[in-house]
Order: sequence, then C-alpha cells, then structure tokens
Amino acid sequence: MNEHKGSRFAHITKAHPCFNEKMHDKVGRAHVPIAPKCNIFCNFCTRDINNEEDRPGVAGCILNPDDAIAHIDEVTADGPISVVGVAGPGDSLANEETFEFFEKMAEKHPDLIKCMSTNGLLLPKYADRLAELGVNSVTVTINAIDPDIAVDIYSFIKYEGKVYKGYEAVEILIKNQLEGVEKAAANGLVVKVNSVLIPGLNDEHIIEIAKEVKKRGAALMNILPLIPLAKMKHYSRPDCSMMERVREEVEEIIPVFRACTQCRADAYGIPGKKSEDHHLGMTPQSHY
Ligand code: SF4
Ligand code: SF4
Ligand code: SF4
Repeated sequence: MNEHKGSRFAHITKAHPCFNEKMHDKVGRAHVPIAPKCNIFCNFCTRDINNEEDRPGVAGCILNPDDAIAHIDEVTADGPISVVGVAGPGDSLANEETFEFFEKMAEKHPDLIKCMSTNGLLLPKYADRLAELGVNSVTVTINAIDPDIAVDIYSFIKYEGKVYKGYEAVEILIKNQLEGVEKAAANGLVVKVNSVLIPGLNDEHIIEIAKEVKKRGAALMNILPLIPLAKMKHYSRPDCSMMERVREEVEEIIPVFRACTQCRADAYGIPGKKSEDHHLGMTPQSHY
C-alpha cells in the first residue's frame, strides 16, 4: 500500500461505522433505498417493502436519486452522519440510479464517505467507474468460492442479457466477485467482504474465502448469521459458539468486524441506538 492510499484508508476506516467498531455507536450512516433490482438469486433472500422487519433487503419505499439527495440533505442537517451508502434493497450495481446518485453526491456532499454494497457480479465492470465517482468503500458479499458449495446457495444469475443456472452460474459469479475485489482494492477503494454463515454448508469454508480475499486486497471481513428465509428457511441459524469459532478462525487471516446487527436498506442514524436509529418507513411517504 503506498502512502497516499494508506492515509486515505485510515481516514475512511476511522470515520466509518461499518469499518470501525469503536465508531459504530458514535457516528451515523444513511442508506438510500434506490436500488430495487437484483441480478442474482440467493436462496436465502426475500426482498420486501415493509416497515416491520429489521434486516437487509427491506425498505419502507424506493427513492429516486433526486429524492435520495433531498433525504441526505435533510438527515445530514439533523445529526452526525459520516457515511452514505447504497445497500439495495437489491444489488447496487444492477441499478443505473446508483451511479446517478453518486454523481450527484460528489457535487452536493463531497465530504461524506460514500459506500455501497454489492453481490460482486458486476464489480469488475464497474470498479473503475466507482473510483471515478468518488466512492470510498465497497462491501462485497461472498458466501462461497467453491462451486460445489455455491451451487446450493445461488439458484441463478442474470449476466450480460443471459440467465445462467447451476455450476455455470456460480463459476461466473465467483470469478467476478474475486476479480471485483481485486480491481476495487487496486483502485483505492476500501473493500469489506461479508459472508453469510450457513451451518452445515459453508461454516468450514469461510476461512478459505478469508485467505483468498485477503490475497486480493480486501481489508476486513464481516461474518453474518444466516437469517433462514425463502428457500433456506429449513436451515438453522448459526448459534453463538459457531459464529465465534468462525470469527476467531478468520481473524487469524484478516481483521473481523463484529458489531454488525444487519441493517435495513433504508436505515439512517446511529446504528443500533434505539433513539437515534431510524428508517424511511417511519416518516410519512408524502414527506418525500
Ligand atoms: Fe437478495 Fe442481495 Fe442476493 Fe440479490 S444479492 S438475491 S438482493 S441477498
Ligand atoms: Fe455500512 Fe454497508 Fe451501509 Fe456501507 S453500505 S454504510 S458498509 S452497511
Ligand atoms: Fe453496517 Fe451492520 Fe453497522 Fe448496520 S449494523 S451500519 S449493516 S455494520
């Protein structure tokens, strides 16, 4: 890492609640739900528009980029927001609105840290563009790098106008995720890798993901427990001892972020602080 990249890295990790456990309950982030479409099918995913559930993939409404900017103007005037992120509720890179939003953010809020999450399928294609738009950090969710495991996690992908299933699908996805991590890191973005821990499927394998993404330039990993839903509703949720075992193993390889409580795609405020953590469904839609 050269000096310029090193100081940029420190600046982001210091102020970003998802990269620094010490800051997690001190500074705020705002997620704008502008990216409803997704280009892959994860077997555990159910996206939804509602005001009840507190998990990724859920938002109270979908905003267009202009309304999202207006929302950011408002919440940054209200409190200490240091990070603005696009976290779905689908895949950020499968929605052109994400790029339009970051273009506008660069003009209106050049000082805020800009962040987004993706499944990584389109990351090799867009890593350069994200860096040009001033995006600082990217979270890539990688649940398996072994096709024999991945084939049980993903049903299909839509890629360059074609639908792929089974091994063909997961081989493209894994290749692109790893190339994407490498390209994003090479472009100066701080890369975090999220892995959903699925008991009996990838609990022994996440360590292999850690070794590979570390080589490719990722800075940090976040291990999330499976929320058993959709086609994976019959799986069990990992217990604390399994979470801890995997986190400890991974920590030997790469730093692990442990404070994540899995936010909604429209969350804003200070993560996990009841009185200061909000989501969009909590304000009347007419407001926007
Ligand atoms: Fe759902 Fe995200 Fe998977 Fe898309 S990438 S299917 S939004 S979990
Ligand atoms: Fe945190 Fe991810 Fe949201 Fe960025 S996109 S603020 S890393 S949860
Ligand atoms: Fe990001 Fe998790 Fe923190 Fe939410 S709780 S802001 S998803 S690290």
